[in-house]
Amino acid sequence: MEPNNHAENFGKLIGAGNVITDPVDQAPYLVEWRDLYHGRTPMVLRPGSTEDVGAIMRYASQNGIAIVPQGGNTGLVGGQIPRESGLEVVLSLGRMNRIRAVDPQGFTITVEAGVVLEAVQTAAEEADRLFPLSLGAQGSCQIGGNISTNAGGTAVLAYGNTRDLVLGLEVVLANGEIWNGLRTLRKDNTGYDLKQLFIGAEGTLGIITAAALKLFPKPKKLEAAFVGLASPEDALALFSIAKAQAGPVLTGFELMPRTGVEFCLRHLGGARDPLTGPHNWYALMELSSGSDAFEIRALQEAILAEAFETGLVEDAAFAQSLQQVKDFWHIRHGMSEVQKEEGGSIKHDVSVPVALIPEFLAEAIAAVEAFVPGCRPVPFGHLGDGNIHFNVSQPEGADKAAFVAKWDEMNTIVHGIVHKFGGSISAEHGIGRLKKDLLPGVKSKVELDLMRRLKQALDPEGILNPGRVLP
Ligand code: FAD
Ligand code: ZN
Repeated sequence: MEPNNHAENFGKLIGAGNVITDPVDQAPYLVEWRDLYHGRTPMVLRPGSTEDVGAIMRYASQNGIAIVPQGGNTGLVGGQIPRESGLEVVLSLGRMNRIRAVDPQGFTITVEAGVVLEAVQTAAEEADRLFPLSLGAQGSCQIGGNISTNAGGTAVLAYGNTRDLVLGLEVVLANGEIWNGLRTLRKDNTGYDLKQLFIGAEGTLGIITAAALKLFPKPKKLEAAFVGLASPEDALALFSIAKAQAGPVLTGFELMPRTGVEFCLRHLGGARDPLTGPHNWYALMELSSGSDAFEIRALQEAILAEAFETGLVEDAAFAQSLQQVKDFWHIRHGMSEVQKEEGGSIKHDVSVPVALIPEFLAEAIAAVEAFVPGCRPVPFGHLGDGNIHFNVSQPEGADKAAFVAKWDEMNTIVHGIVHKFGGSISAEHGIGRLKKDLLPGVKSKVELDLMRRLKQALDPEGILNPGRVLP
C-alpha cells in the first residue's frame, strides 16, 4: 500500500464507498449538538464489521494515524468531534447496527455498537423484556457511545448506570487486535474484569464493536405523578417517603424548576402544564414493576397521601393513561433542548450526596445570581441519583456571546461549591475535550498516574482519541 494515500488504502480495506472525503458529506460528523466544537478531518470511515474495525486500527497504528470513534454524535463534551488541526480520522460505528442475539430466558441481548439506543429498547420490548437505559437522546445515540460514556439518564435510580447493564464486550484494540469478551455470564471471577476498563473510557482505550447487555422484566404496570412543590427541601422529603414506601418499584424521580417548565410550555411542541397553577419546583415521580403483584396505583396514592398530610405537596396530577405518562416525561426530556430557545446557557453536570441537594442548590443559585444579576438558573435532573444539570440561562435580552464568555468563570464558582459538598464535576456526561483541563483539580496524583499508565499500556502510540479525558 502507498504510504501517503491513506484514503485510498482505507478504501481497499473497507470499501471505497465507506470512506467519506467530500466536505459536504462529512459535515454532520464535524459539528455537535451544543455547537461548541467545529472539527476538521481528512476522512470519515464507516466500517461494516468488527474485522473492518480491526483492519482500520492495524493500518492506523502502523501509520501513526489518530482515530476518533463516533457513535450517534450526541455526546456533550466534544470527545467524538475531530480536533480543528484536521489530522484526526473519524471512525463512525453507524453501519454496525445489527442485533446479534436476544435471549429472553436468560434476560440478555447482544448488539453491535452502532445500534441506536431506541432500537435496543424496541428489540427488548418485542421479546417482552425491558432494556432500561433511557435518555433524551435515545433516538440518535448508539449503544457503543452509551457504554463509552457510561451514560446515566432517567432510569439509574432503579437499574443503575450503563456500567451496571453490561455483561460483556467485544473491543478492537489500538493495534487492531480483537478482544472477544462477549460473555453473558452473571458471575465470573476469573481475574481482572477487563470490560470495566472500556466502559466510560470515551474511546481512549479501545473501540467497542459489540456488547452483551442485561434485560429486565417488562413493566406490567406504570404510574406517574407530576407534583408541584415549594422547594427542593420538599422534593427531597417526598423522594425519601417514596423510596421508603416503594423501594425498587420507584423507577424515576426527577426534579424540575418552574423556569424550566415555563421554557417547555413556550417552546416544546405538545407540552401542556399538568397542573392548574404555577409552583416553584416540580417532581416527576414514576412507579413501575414487571410484576403484577404490586398495587402500584395504591402505592402511589399512599405516598402522596402521606406527603399531603405533612404539607409537603402543593398539588399533584396522576397520569390517567399511558399517553399521560408519556406527556409528563415529554416535559422532562424536552428540558435540555428548550434552553437553546432562550439564548446562551452555561452548563454544569454535577452530583452531590442526595441529601445535600437542597443545600447545594441554595448556595449555587445564590452564587450564580450574584455573579450575573438577572441570569436564570434552570437546575433540573435526577434528584434520586444526586445528579443535577445545573444549567444557567442568560438574562432576558442580554448579549448571548458576552454571557457565554463567562462559561469558565461560572464553572469555577459552581464547581467550587460542588467540591465543598464532596461532589463530582461530571456526573454522567464524561470529560472529553470540554473538561479535560479540570481533571487535575479533582483527581489525586495517584489517580491521574494510574490513568496515564493504563492509557500507555493500551494505546502506546496515543492514536485513540488523543487529547480527550487525560490532560
Ligand atoms: P458519541 O457522542 O458519538 O460519542 C461519545 C464518546 O464516546 C466520544 O468520546 C466517542 O469518541 C466515544 N465513542 C462513541 N462510540 C464509541 C465506540 N463504539 N467505541 C469507543 N468509543 C466510542 N447523557 C447521559 O448520560 N444522560 C442523559 O440523560 C443524557 N441526556 C441527553 C439529552 C440530550 C438531548 C443530548 C443531546 C445528550 C444527552 N446525553 C445524556 C449525552 C449523550 O447522549 C450520551 O453521552 C450518549 O451516551 C452518547 O452516545 P453517542 O452514541 O451519541 O456517542
Ligand atoms: Zn441527565
